[in-house]
Amino acid sequence: MNLILSSLTDERGKVENFLSTRTDLYNVDPIGIGTSYVESLSSYISRIAEIHNLAVSPLLSKVIAPMLNINYLKEQLTQGIIKDTSHFINENSPVTIEYCNTLEILTGRHDLRSLTMLNWQGVFSKKLFSRYRKWCPICLNKMKSNSKIIYEPLIWYISDIKKCEVHEVVLQDQCPNCNRNLPYLHKELMVGYCQYCGSWLGDELVINKETLTEKDIFIFQNYKELLANSSKQPIYPTRTFISNFLNRLMKKLDIKSVAKLANILGLNSATVNSWVKGRRHPSSESLLKIARKIGLTIYEMIYDNNKKLVLEIKKDSYLQQQKSISISEIEDSLKKEVNSKEPKSLNRISKEYGFYESTAKRNFPILCEKVTKNFNSYKEQKVKKRRIEIEEKLIDCLSKETPISLNQFSKDNGITLKTAKTVSPNLCKKVVKRYEEYIHELKRKRVQIIKREIIEIVNTLHQKGIYPSSNKVQENLENKHLFRKEWVKRAWKETLESLGYK
Ligand SMILES: [Zn+2]
Ligand SMILES: [Zn+2]
Repeated sequence: MNLILSSLTDERGKVENFLSTRTDLYNVDPIGIGTSYVESLSSYISRIAEIHNLAVSPLLSKVIAPMLNINYLKEQLTQGIIKDTSHFINENSPVTIEYCNTLEILTGRHDLRSLTMLNWQGVFSKKLFSRYRKWCPICLNKMKSNSKIIYEPLIWYISDIKKCEVHEVVLQDQCPNCNRNLPYLHKELMVGYCQYCGSWLGDELVINKETLTEKDIFIFQNYKELLANSSKQPIYPTRTFISNFLNRLMKKLDIKSVAKLANILGLNSATVNSWVKGRRHPSSESLLKIARKIGLTIYEMIYDNNKKLVLEIKKDSYLQQQKSISISEIEDSLKKEVNSKEPKSLNRISKEYGFYESTAKRNFPILCEKVTKNFNSYKEQKVKKRRIEIEEKLIDCLSKETPISLNQFSKDNGITLKTAKTVSPNLCKKVVKRYEEYIHELKRKRVQIIKREIIEIVNTLHQKGIYPSSNKVQENLENKHLFRKEWVKRAWKETLESLGYK
């Protein structure tokens, strides 16, 4: 406590606030630090609230918000608005840093960065995480039945991780009861439970078994290594990491041009060039692609660039790229493709037949132009057809008896949200509105049922001559956790008053 206070002495207002609201929190151990199943920061926040017998809402608005330095974040949390910034909490953004620093001061801990991807911010661009919570129902049930502390590991939330490695099932991201996606932070967040309807998320009826592929295993190996080591390194990579690495790779393999490097990696040349120059940063997907191609993990790319690399790459595509194709063969391939019913881009043709686009353009400018023109009009037609298809699907979705969310629509039909919204913003709005009304109605019904349950429990206890205390009522409630919700407590109090208790 003294330590915390002395570090704050420059900021009088803060210290006074600190003392008057007594905001210091217990120094709760995060779960799994130093392992690949380390807890996420949002899970930690939920558990901290529970240990202090608080809902997440007052923890965020009364304890955490006053200590924040980012003004808009402070304002939002104070007003109870969490949704906008919720998905940054476990990432590698300024919002993440702010939450981490504040919680470290409040709990007196120094290791909360490793509950996020902050230490790997030099490696990854943003958008590393799924927009909503994901979980393995079997893992959750195992924690519960072994009376272990229930928590949600960071690895579940990573976009590239789609399955549970232990149980080989697809991770869930929708509440089995109300079908909603669950943001990371919410005023009634509870690890293992849905923040909207309070349902336990370990519903094994919804699981889909799916064996891990070789690619899945490689992805797991990469993230597990990074997570397990995120508290152990003396230094972490900066944003220049990928540029340095690619330059080193070119030197080591004696690759003279970026175009050649891109060819070896099977990636677009302009994109690779922007990474080599340090102007842009690869997505996690591209990073994993590079790692796989050169036979290293991302962690090894950062900390261990040994000779293994040279061998792996030579074995693979490097030598094959050397084969050359004659000018007349290029002409033949262009003539063949220009009459194809499914036109391809010049870039794709050049890759398939193994020649340089520039060579083709230099020698056969008219043919190349035709190829490109054909491909463009083909693409245009395809886009038009696709737009109509999407609109029809949206209209179809609106006529379904049970409304679904736009997210669900996107998943069911393999149409990204962005595409759907670009094609028909109005239909999308209708889908969203219809679903919201449906959920609202569901919630209203559920609230009624629970209120009725409470009234019944209180009355029964009262008739038996037992005082309906909060403990007694909780004991009889089907879902005890519900009692943390304000409206449930209110319903209990109101029933007490109606029976003449004070
Ligand atoms: Zn599992
Ligand atoms: Zn729910």
